[in-house]
Amino acid sequence: MGTVSEYFGSMVFDDRVMKATLSAKVYQSLKKTIDEGTQLDLGVANAVANAMKDWAVAHGATHYTHWFQPLTGVTAEKHDGFISPSPDGGVIMEFSGKELIKGEPDASSFPSGGLRATFEARGYTAWDPTSYAFIKGKTLCIPTAFCSYGGEALDKKTPLLRSMEALNRQAMRILKLFGNDSVKCVRTSVGPEQEYFLIDRALYEKRRDLRFTGRTLFGAKPPKGQEMDDHYFGVIKPRVEAYMQELNEELWKLGILAKTEHNEVAPAQHELAPIYSTTNIATDHNQLTMEIMQKVASRHGLVCLLHEKPFAGVNGSGKHNNWSIATDTGVNLLSPGDTPYENAQFLLFLCAVIKAVDEYQDLLRISVATAGNDHRLGANEAPPAVVSMFLGDELSAILDAIENDKPYSAAEKTQMKLGVDVLPKFNRDTTDRNRTSPFAFTGNKFEFRMLGSSNSIACANIMLNSAVAESLKSYADRLESAENFEEALHALIKKTIKDHKRVIFNGNGYDESWIKVATEERGLLNYRTTPDCMPHLLDKKNADMLISHGVFSEAELKSRCEIMLENYCKTVIIEANTMVDMARTEIAPAIEAYILELAKTAAAKKSLDLRPSCIYENGLVNKLSTLVECIATKTDELEKALVEIKSIGDIMEMANAIRDKLLVKMSELRLPCDEAETLTAKKYWPFPTYGDLLFSVN
Ligand code: ADP
Ligand code: MG
Repeated sequence: MGTVSEYFGSMVFDDRVMKATLSAKVYQSLKKTIDEGTQLDLGVANAVANAMKDWAVAHGATHYTHWFQPLTGVTAEKHDGFISPSPDGGVIMEFSGKELIKGEPDASSFPSGGLRATFEARGYTAWDPTSYAFIKGKTLCIPTAFCSYGGEALDKKTPLLRSMEALNRQAMRILKLFGNDSVKCVRTSVGPEQEYFLIDRALYEKRRDLRFTGRTLFGAKPPKGQEMDDHYFGVIKPRVEAYMQELNEELWKLGILAKTEHNEVAPAQHELAPIYSTTNIATDHNQLTMEIMQKVASRHGLVCLLHEKPFAGVNGSGKHNNWSIATDTGVNLLSPGDTPYENAQFLLFLCAVIKAVDEYQDLLRISVATAGNDHRLGANEAPPAVVSMFLGDELSAILDAIENDKPYSAAEKTQMKLGVDVLPKFNRDTTDRNRTSPFAFTGNKFEFRMLGSSNSIACANIMLNSAVAESLKSYADRLESAENFEEALHALIKKTIKDHKRVIFNGNGYDESWIKVATEERGLLNYRTTPDCMPHLLDKKNADMLISHGVFSEAELKSRCEIMLENYCKTVIIEANTMVDMARTEIAPAIEAYILELAKTAAAKKSLDLRPSCIYENGLVNKLSTLVECIATKTDELEKALVEIKSIGDIMEMANAIRDKLLVKMSELRLPCDEAETLTAKKYWPFPTYGDLLFSVN
């Protein structure tokens, strides 16, 4: 295949290919569209489409697709061939500018949360030229946005692009005030670290819960779990290594900067991190990465589990969204910098993030809310459902000094004044590490750690970008009209610290006592579940902010709330159905079969007058019979709850009932099943156990 640098990006229609295949004029005008968002004229689009098609065909592609991210959370594609009949009976390969720019997939089967009346099935996909087209298999994939006939966004990319634009607008105002006239635009960058499990495919096939729901709904704790801490950063096993190698190759061909890989805390758990890139590209790449992780796994006889909590009692999988703001001139606005002037600007951007996280805690929590992630947040392995921020001792001390007009360091005894070069340099390696904070400053970026492993990172970044845009807007409004810029700046920073310091917490986020302090003393929000947080998407404060920055329309917000709740309900209902099914048709019959064997053994012993008391058999038969009766009762109760819940018409009411009743009934059924597993002979147990699954890959 050649060296990595030879094949890296070989399946991407990137800048190198554009330069080589487009005329200088077409290339310039496409570049302008990519960099500055200018409209593309049809002549240019035709030329680009033609070059794209020739390049794709030369690389074995026969089809093209508008690749998009509907609200299902996965990506969608509809393939069209390039072929077009020629008058002589043959075919030619064709692809027009119009086909490149706009597509019309039937939108009726994608969730729209009421946005698209069913009689209006049309939806449009529109090319996003800022994310490169690529070839997957035999198909040229064109990243696109997806919207309804009426123009409402039916996808995650559109609001993401809008939020990036909102942040750009407001950050540019601030930069102007600081005299930065050479900057043309500001973009956010993201590097998402992705956790996942790898298990053996043959074992996976034997578990209906994994196949239908992505997680185990039953399973007793294995004799060995993660308590030895021998897996984290441990030696990577040969089969996993082969997998990771092929995965890297596939990702590199697509221009995805997969960089680090290591074992995670739980057995069979691993992590992959790319080098960061612009947020919308990072989002596209993360979606592709998840898809390719699963594809490559199947070639290795493995299954890649991206569920947030595939195994109870074992760490679940999350995603860390490393986020920063940078100018097109290459300056990271969250980097403390070397000069006093940059320090003040850094402090203002830092404050903008602090204010944003405090004021929109609920939106950040909502952005990661799924049924799967509810099992993780606050379970001593992931940050709690309470959103707080870690800044580290040094930065916190500086903010404290500003707030109280105190000298920053006792040694210096100087009056803290903005613009004085007091900020220490934050070397990435010296910033203190806090792994338990939901939102941590790590030297020159923030790491938002509440995302679940299967979440699209779009939602988190939409909320983050918008909330920070809102802080910056309020600062710019104030500073633009200030008579004395320095004084107004100082006052703003001081006020932000005073008003929002409650969200800063440098201690252990997993600590029970923190939750009490956070909620009771500091008044921070603690939305433990999806139904708890989701309705707040429509709170006036949140809706006003998102609408005012043009990120969502009111109708789009309502539709998202509806779809998220629907997803939650559907997910848990499928899980409950699967439990009923497995308990009735697999677990109870297995226990009964083992009881029968025990009873036969007892009868044989009795008839031979050998130990006629049969203490072992009778004791076990008794215990298992009690358990199987309990399983029968609990299965009936779960089924009854299911029937009741499915009859609820209102989606919010349904979600609440699922949280309060269905999930409770599910846990109640699981208990006797897991206990029975520990008492039943292994050859009778109908599916692989946790021990089998977690230690299946060598
Ligand atoms: P960790 O110690 O958490 O593994 P790393 O330095 O390895 O930290 O970075 C984790 C992720 O953060 C990587 O994907 C990396 O590319 C990304 N990252 C680094 N710098 C930035 C930045 N300025 N903006 C966004 N992401 C970044
Ligand atoms: Mg990390």
